[in-house]
Amino acid sequence: MELTQFFSRSISTMPRIYSDNPSRAGSLHLIGDVVALDFANTSSGRGSSQHLDHLREPLHVVAWAHHVGVLGDAASVQAQALIEKNDPAFRDLLPRALMLREAIHGIGESVATGNTPRQADLRTVAIACASAIAAADLTPTDDGFRWTWPTDPPLPETILGPVALSAAGLLREGDLSRLKKCGGEHCGWLFFDLTKNNSRRWCDMAVCGNRQKSKRNRQRRTFAASEEP
Ligand SMILES: [Zn+2]
Repeated sequence: MELTQFFSRSISTMPRIYSDNPSRAGSLHLIGDVVALDFANTSSGRGSSQHLDHLREPLHVVAWAHHVGVLGDAASVQAQALIEKNDPAFRDLLPRALMLREAIHGIGESVATGNTPRQADLRTVAIACASAIAAADLTPTDDGFRWTWPTDPPLPETILGPVALSAAGLLREGDLSRLKKCGGEHCGWLFFDLTKNNSRRWCDMAVCGNRQKSKRNRQRRTFAASEEP
């Protein structure tokens, strides 16, 4: 099956959630410690009334890529210009990005909760990796070689390639006992726990950790009040 057929067929089955809040794709907290997990975290509260999606337009994908350093300044400006003039290469950037993101989140959530990832999600990441490598060059560096993608002009793979390969690298070589899902209500963000004793529980203690702590305190106070004679 052609890649474009695969993406357009699969994306049509995905729920599309929009929010009135402005997208924060270009300023989100990067707490995943793996670029693929930060990409998964461009949406939060999946399946809840608090669902927030920061990738709602192709330009949001570019803003995120620039924010995390996947695209440099010049390549980012070029990508924006190509999107604005409806360049055919970038027409399916958003559906491809969403499909890859939801597959990464689905796999990460399954691993973090001790479940088997969906075959379709694994297939999506594998196909995105194939597409990424087909567009990449092997470039010498001071200490070896690395994958690089065109930046003048950039391609959709220049953005999605590093994300797809980051996901595959994590699944193939990462210590998966450190792949976790934030315990915060309406969050669902994923992160790679780099603490010494693998004890991190929250995307951000100052956000979800404290929110959960005050919720527990509120429940304790309500319980104590109901116990009063
Ligand atoms: Zn959280």
